[in-house]
Amino acid sequence: MPSKIDLHVHTCYSDDGMSTLREVVDYAEKKGLNGIAITDHDTLNGTDKALKLANKKELVVIPGVEVTTLQGHVLGLNITTSIPKNLGLIETVKKIHEAGGIAIAAHPIVLIKSHIKQRTASASNLDGIEVINSSAFPFFLSTRLSQTLAEQLKLPQTAGTDAHHADEIGTAYTLVKADPDIDEITEAIRKGAVAPFGKPISWKIRVRRGAFSLKRRI
Ligand SMILES: [Zn+2]
Ligand SMILES: [Zn+2]
Repeated sequence: MPSKIDLHVHTCYSDDGMSTLREVVDYAEKKGLNGIAITDHDTLNGTDKALKLANKKELVVIPGVEVTTLQGHVLGLNITTSIPKNLGLIETVKKIHEAGGIAIAAHPIVLIKSHIKQRTASASNLDGIEVINSSAFPFFLSTRLSQTLAEQLKLPQTAGTDAHHADEIGTAYTLVKADPDIDEITEAIRKGAVAPFGKPISWKIRVRRGAFSLKRRI
């Protein structure tokens, strides 16, 4: 049975996340997803607690992290040991693999956020490219260029919302040909048994995020 998974979700354990784990888990279930990956910035602090919350429910929670590298952001999925930030992309991917996870380039082409260059990406042993990221701007250009990069590198294509508030979850999701089980899902992504779906977050949400980050600074 294919599983519908939002592979890029932040919680309040990220500096920029606004929702508690309970809100995130409840909303993911409400949206009819089979799973989510918790991918906070450079921390695994929220994943243990999320796993405990989700155990009582029908939702798969993949423990993950969004690692800051010198060449952009990388999602480490199915990870329970921390990965140091600010290393090179190649070294980061190696560490994610050593920790038993898979490595996906997050929003590899974004004008505002950092962006991963093709030459580095091809040398890095990545397991996939996030071609749809609902928060990427400009969305359609970013999606098209990310798809081209994934095709050139012959890597599986994934999607995630990059949600910073629970009600954004499910704006994008990856359909994975696997039962809702962490190891089966991770293996299916690695093999490329995936299809990305999704749309951009609304302008209303972009404005809300802007207001939230302004509030944090003052
Ligand atoms: Zn990012
Ligand atoms: Zn993110």
